[in-house]
Formats: sequence, structure tokens, C-alpha cells
Amino acid sequence: MRSDANTAGPMTDPVPGPRSEPTGEGVSRETLPPMDDTPIGRAAQLAVEALGRAGEGLPRPEQTRVIVVANQKGGVGKTTTTVNLAASLALHGGRVLVVDLDPQGNASTALGIDHHAEVPSIYDVLVEGRPLAEVVQPVPDVEGLFCAPATIDLAGAEIELVSLVARESRLQRAIESYEQPLDYILIDCPPSLGLLTVNALVAGAEVLIPIQCEYYALEGLGQLLRNVDLVRGHLNPKLHVSTILLTMYDGRTRLAAQVAEEVRSHFGKEVLRTSIPRSVRISEAPSYGQTVLTYDPGSSGALSYLEAAREMALRGVGRGAEYDGQHAHMARQDNEYDQHSMSEGIK
Ligand code: ATP
Ligand code: MG
Repeated sequence: MRSDANTAGPMTDPVPGPRSEPTGEGVSRETLPPMDDTPIGRAAQLAVEALGRAGEGLPRPEQTRVIVVANQKGGVGKTTTTVNLAASLALHGGRVLVVDLDPQGNASTALGIDHHAEVPSIYDVLVEGRPLAEVVQPVPDVEGLFCAPATIDLAGAEIELVSLVARESRLQRAIESYEQPLDYILIDCPPSLGLLTVNALVAGAEVLIPIQCEYYALEGLGQLLRNVDLVRGHLNPKLHVSTILLTMYDGRTRLAAQVAEEVRSHFGKEVLRTSIPRSVRISEAPSYGQTVLTYDPGSSGALSYLEAAREMALRGVGRGAEYDGQHAHMARQDNEYDQHSMSEGIK
């Protein structure tokens, strides 16, 4: 794996072209209609600020950051976080690869990548030893974003891997021999702690754990953390939990605030200040083969992922203190906006 993507300097490329209205290249305050103090007006204001900052450029990591998105609990937002953070990092000017390591292939679907049974996929890489470069596809509409898709074949890989040589480190080897320069690799894990997830933990240096703001949010996490410790102890000394992201935060409920507080007191500095709101736009986007960044760039969901990506990028180069957290609590303010868009949908 080459890690010289940073030779291009900071992520100063302009925001790649618009995916749909209302994003626009060169959006400037002058050309925008006056913003009112309605929830939508505020959301539009936030969109402009976030996109403006995206164009300002973020620091590139010195080496490719390989981030494993894992939580063996199902439906907590792993895939949603992987694809939307990856798209956000690409919009911020980075070169980003999503590795879909879940036989469900949800990340591939959400990125609009074909993943029917005949498509060369991560299964071929892990089981057949095919070079990663032969299965990687560019993501339509998002410059700098790539995906190694998963097909249904991957469902058998957990068993097939058992008898293979170096079964825990096949993904790591494939990534190491990948020649293309990248700033980030995000690996979307299945909801289990089997050999596929172990391959991800051996290949990465960072673990990102999405935690859904609901009852039992922390239940089962001990097992994941023990696995991280085991892999660090035996196979990958650099592995650590770098990031916790609160997902599906519903600012109207006291429960969400309580869970967030509990997670923050438990994990402390690993928890991103930005949390992701529960948003109907986020859940709709995959059915159009899109991330929320392209599906509805002005939505609270898109803005919160852009913000989370910015926070991660700054932390990754030791500049976390520079993160102003101005929009970190967007989730709370923006629930009104989301309710609005939900009721629009019902009309
Ligand atoms: P699995 O364990 O099955 O792989 P997962 O952890 O990858 O699941 P997702 O598929 O990302 O979880 O999300 C589960 C469901 O919740 C999906 O239907 C997704 O659209 C929805 N969802 C995720 N994040 C949000 C959000 N912030 N607001 C609303 N819905 C969301
Ligand atoms: Mg998933």
C-alpha cells in the first residue's frame, strides 16, 4: 500500500461537482437567498458553512489511515457511518477506499456499486488471493471515492478462510500490496466477531465503534474491546480504538442524552463531539444507491457526517484541539428540521 497520497499537500482540492441540487460548486454567500430563522433556513446556513469549510481543505494524514468500523451488534449504523464518512472525507478532498467486508453488501449498495455474484469482489481477494486493485471500483458521482464490493460469496468465506494459510492476515496483505495512493481506507464489518472482522482488525490501526443512542447501547461492547485487545496482543500491536461515534441521536428524548452521557463518561476523549442525528434522509439515501451527502447535501444528516469527518481528520494529525465543535451538537438543533422533512415526505 502506498501512503504518499499526502504528497499532494493538504486536502485543498475544490469540492467535487454537485450530485444534486442544492449543492453547488462555488456556492458563495453572496449568491444565496437570505436565510430565515426557520429550521430549513438554519439547515441551509449550516450547509453553506460546512461545504465552504470542505473547500478550505483539511490536513492529509501522513500515512494512509486504515479504519475498521466495527460493532458486533446489528443495525447500529456501521454501514451508514462507513459510507457517509467515506464520502465526507472524499468531499473534503481525500482519496478514500471503502472495503465492504459484510456479505450483506450494504456498503456496496449504498455507494451504487454493482455487486451481483459475478462481480470481482473482496471474496476473491480474501479467499483466492486476487489483488485488491482488480476488484476496486470508483464510486459514481463522488470523486476520490472507491469501493471494494462484497458479493454473497463472502457469506461462505468465514468457513473457507479457516483452512487457509495466514487466515487472519489476508486482508492486511492485500492492502499492503495495493499500489494506489490513499488517505483513508474504511472497512465495513459484519455484525459478528468472526474471521472477517478479525481480518479487518489485523489490517487496520484504528477501530471506529458506532454506538446507537438506545437502551443497552454498551451491552456486548466488552466482547468487542476484548477482541481488540487480543488482536493487539498477538497480531497487530498498533491496533487501538480511536473513535466512538454516537449514531441515531434523537434530541427529543431524554434517553438519547442519557446514553450519550454514559458513553462519554465511559470512553471519554475517543467519543467524537459530533453526533449523528436520527434522520429520515440518512435512511432513505441507500435505496437510491447514494450517500446522504449526494442525496440531500443540505440535510442535518449530511452536515453531521461532514462535521464528524472534519473532526476525525483533525484528530488524525494531532490537531483535534483545533476542532471548534461549532456544529458538534447539530443533532440537537436539527431534529426540528428532520421532523419537517419527515412530514413533507408524508404529504
Ligand atoms: P448491520 O449490523 O446489519 O450491518 P449496521 O450496523 O451496518 O447494520 P446500518 O445498516 O448502517 O447498521 O443501519 C441500520 C438501519 O438504520 C438502516 O436501515 C439505516 O438506514 C438506519 N440508520 C442508520 N443511521 C441512521 C440515522 N442516523 N438516522 C436514521 N436511520 C439510520
Ligand atoms: Mg452493515
